[in-house]
Amino acid sequence: MKTITLREGKERSLLRRHPWVFQGSIAKGGGDAGETVRVQSHDGQFLCWAAFSPSSQIRVRAWSFDEAERIDAAFFARRVQTAVALRRRLAIASNGVRLIHGEADGLPGLVVDQYDDVLSAQFLSTGAERWKNAIADALVAATGCPFIYERSDASVRGLEGLAPVTGWLRHPDTAGVADGAKRPTEVTIEENGWKLTLDVAEGHKTGYYLDQRDNRGLFAKWVRELSCQTVLNCYSYTGGFSVAALAGGASHVTSVDSSGPALVRATNHVALNGFDPAAHTALDADVNGTLRQFLQDGRTFDAIVLDPPKFAPSAAHADRASRAYKDINRLALKLLNPGGLLLTFSCSGGISADLFHKIVAGAGLDAQVDGYLLRRLEATSDHPTTITFPEGEYLKGLAIVRKA
Ligand code: SAH
Repeated sequence: MKTITLREGKERSLLRRHPWVFQGSIAKGGGDAGETVRVQSHDGQFLCWAAFSPSSQIRVRAWSFDEAERIDAAFFARRVQTAVALRRRLAIASNGVRLIHGEADGLPGLVVDQYDDVLSAQFLSTGAERWKNAIADALVAATGCPFIYERSDASVRGLEGLAPVTGWLRHPDTAGVADGAKRPTEVTIEENGWKLTLDVAEGHKTGYYLDQRDNRGLFAKWVRELSCQTVLNCYSYTGGFSVAALAGGASHVTSVDSSGPALVRATNHVALNGFDPAAHTALDADVNGTLRQFLQDGRTFDAIVLDPPKFAPSAAHADRASRAYKDINRLALKLLNPGGLLLTFSCSGGISADLFHKIVAGAGLDAQVDGYLLRRLEATSDHPTTITFPEGEYLKGLAIVRKA
């Protein structure tokens, strides 16, 4: 067993159960990619068992703080079982569920979403990569899902020195698919009672954004309560919030996204859920330019959703990202009818909930629009954070009703 010895004082975050050690904290020791190492303080005190990552800034990711625990296939089976059991206890209004949420589930670098009978998995660290087979076996055993599709094509794998990998990781010939043919990678899930399709091979991330499930449900409810008729869904992806708006009684929704295939799906989702195709417009365009154009044209809306991609991957990008968030929020607030509803989000780890609130407040001042804060929004409970890993908190949002 290889040992990593930390520099004096650098044991503090591990003692608080924070699972990462950065390169600069290590005095001596090393290992192969993903190898299990014993991490100790400068004076030899055991701190954790961890996966070593030779090329990442995050050099060590903790598996266990229990010296008696062995990191083996049974360990991964226990961790996977615990994570799945939590989700099964939560009454989640969908058959699309995040089963494993990385560090929060004690499995750094592993993300697994279940879409009906298919699991879509991302192995994003050397440790997760090294234990891929044991983890895949554990997932099948814990869920009974025979199919696992691997989507290890996120750019963060590059930081770990890992090449992208995609394709079926588990696909038994006997699982209802005849003559060696493969199960289609398209899946239909039912979320809040709506049918939504996705393709685990083609979609963003694992195929869909499950973290917004509850917020889509709230949006439908508020659109109905506030009698919103015209809705603008910015960064719509496959139109989850658009279907929610129509379910809430909106008469017309415009979905804006820069991904053509996502918009095709959004358009299909309208008919799939029994709504009039004429009640939906898909715009393949940049959101910022579209908001400016709408302002010039004098268009207004009863409800607007802003769910942009991550503008600030880390705190170092916070300044530029803040300006970008402020800009779209200022434009959206101006386009909102008095009494209208804005759902605005940031999924940037580098932007705290407090900072995001300040940014939106600044946007309101610039737009000369005040609003009631209906609720603070966050990710669904199947994307948990833990009290020891505040970095895990990424999605934050505000539901605002514009004052008349
Ligand atoms: N609200 C969606 C998820 C949004 S993810 C849901 O509920 O499922 C962010 C989306 O923003 C992606 O679909 C991406 O294609 C889109 N996007 C990124 N940059 C964009 C831009 N400048 N203009 C329009 N869309 C953009």
